[in-house]
Amino acid sequence: MSTSTAPEYPAVRLYIAGEWRDADDGRTAPVVNPATEETIGAVPLATTADLDDALEAAADGFRTWRRTPVAQRTAILRKAADLITERAPKIGRVMTLEQGKPLKEGTGEAARTADTLRWHIEDARRAYGRTIPSPPGTILSVRREPIGPVAAFVPWNFPVGGPNRKISSALAAGCSTVIKASEETPATAAALVACYADAGLPPGVLNLVFGEPADVSDRLIASPVTRLVAFTGSVPVGKLLAAKAGEVMKPSLMELGGHAPVIVCADADPVKAARRAAQAKFFNAGQVCTSPSRFLVHESRYEEFTAEFVKATERVVVGDGFAPDTTMGPLSNERRLAAAERLTADAVRRGATVRTGGLRPERAGYFFAPTVLTDVPDDALIMSEEPFAPLAPIVPFADLDDALALANSLPYGLAAYGFTESAATAEKLSAELEAGILSINHCGGSVHEAPSGGVKDSGYGREGGPEALDAYLVTKRVSHQLG
Ligand code: NAD
Repeated sequence: MSTSTAPEYPAVRLYIAGEWRDADDGRTAPVVNPATEETIGAVPLATTADLDDALEAAADGFRTWRRTPVAQRTAILRKAADLITERAPKIGRVMTLEQGKPLKEGTGEAARTADTLRWHIEDARRAYGRTIPSPPGTILSVRREPIGPVAAFVPWNFPVGGPNRKISSALAAGCSTVIKASEETPATAAALVACYADAGLPPGVLNLVFGEPADVSDRLIASPVTRLVAFTGSVPVGKLLAAKAGEVMKPSLMELGGHAPVIVCADADPVKAARRAAQAKFFNAGQVCTSPSRFLVHESRYEEFTAEFVKATERVVVGDGFAPDTTMGPLSNERRLAAAERLTADAVRRGATVRTGGLRPERAGYFFAPTVLTDVPDDALIMSEEPFAPLAPIVPFADLDDALALANSLPYGLAAYGFTESAATAEKLSAELEAGILSINHCGGSVHEAPSGGVKDSGYGREGGPEALDAYLVTKRVSHQLG
C-alpha cells in the first residue's frame, strides 16, 4: 500500500454574479480527504437568498451572453480552455486530495476536459439553422437559439470532467448556468470555474453553488428563470429531478447510472479480454457510470479469463493518490465503502467465492481491495445493483442468447462491452445489446467527438459529439412575408 504527503487544501467559495463569496449565513460543511478520513477544509452551503441571487445573476447573464457575437463568445471560451490546460497539474492535485484518484488520472482528466471545451467551441460556430424553399415573397427559416439559463447538478466521481461537460455545452450554446457541483469535491469545481472567470466571462453567465442538494434542486428547478435541468448522478435522484422538472414543464438532460455487462464470447481472446476489462474495472476505483460491472464469460473461456483477470487485479497498486506507484486510490466516500462491503458480504452469503480481495485493508481511508467474485448466483445483489466500487463478479454462460437476455434483463442501459474475434458475433452484439454506449474488444472511455448517454432507466439526452448542444438549443420556425 502506497502513501505520500498531500498539498494544502484551498479555501472554497460560491461564485455568484461574478463574485467569489461565502454563504449568506456563513454555514459550511466539512470536506474530507478519502485517503486519510481527515477533514481538510470546508464548503459553503448556499442559503435561499444565495440561490435567488444566483438565479437573478443567471437571468442577467443570459441576456448578455445570448447577444454576445459567437466569435467573441468563443474567444473567451478558448481562453478558458487554455487556462484549464495551464492549470491542469494544480487542478489534478486538488482533485486527488478531495476525491482520492491517482494524481496522474486527476491531471489527465483536467487536461482532457480542456479538449472537451475546445470541441464545443468549434461546434458553437456551427449551430446552423436552415432556410426552406418557399413561395416568392416569403422567407421560411429555422433558427436554433439557446434555451436559456440552465440548472446543472453534477456528482463527485469526475470532479472536473463532470461539471465541465455541462458548463462547456451550455456556454457554447449561448446559455447561462447555475451549477451545483458536489459538496464532496468542491475545490476542484471552483478551480474549473475560476478558469472561466479569469478568461473574462461576463458576470452571471456562470454561477457555482453548493448546498443541501434537495434544497438547492427544489429552488433552482422551480424558479421561472431556469429553462433546462441537466443532471448527472444516480437513477433514483435522476427520476426525482426529472419529475420535478416535469411538474413545471421544463426539459431535462439525464445522465444516470448503469450496470454494464461485459460479454466474453466463445470466439474471443480471453487473455486480451481479461487484461482490458480489468484495467477498465479498477479505473477510478470502479466509480464510473460506464464501469464494466457484470462479466459474462462463455464457459469454454471462463477459467482462462478468470485466471488472467485475477492476475491483472493483483497487479493493481492501491494507495494514496499522491504516491507515484498508486494505480487505484480509495473510494471517494464512506457510502461507497459501505456498499462495497455490503455487496461482497451478500454475494459470499449466497455462495460466491472471493478469488482475490474482498476486504477493507487495515489502515485509515476509504480503501477497499480490488475484488474478483466467482460462483455468483443470479440473485446476489451485485448482479442487479450497480456496485460503483472495485468489485468484479464473473459468471459463465453456455449460450450467447442467454447471455444477451441476462445482460438486457436490468432496467439500466448505459454502457455494454463485448469481446469476440468474429465480425458476425460483433454485429449480433451491436444489434441486440440494450445500451447507449457499446464497445467491442475494448473498454475505452468516452470521447468528446462522439455522443454518450443511456437508454431505459439510465437516462436520456446525449453529452459529447455534435448531439451535445441539442439539449441546450431550441428550434424556432420563422416565416417572413415580404411586402
Ligand atoms: P446519491 O444518489 O446520493 O447522489 C448522486 C449525486 O446526486 C450526488 O452528487 C448528490 O449530491 C446529488 N444529489 C442527491 N440528491 C439530490 C437532490 N435531491 N438534488 C440534487 N442533487 C442531488 O448517490 P451517491 O452516493 O453520491 O453516489 C452513488 C450512486 O450515484 C452510484 O451508485 C451511482 O449510481 C450514482 N452516480 C452516478 C454517476 C454518473 O456518472 N452517472 C456519478 C456519480 C454517482
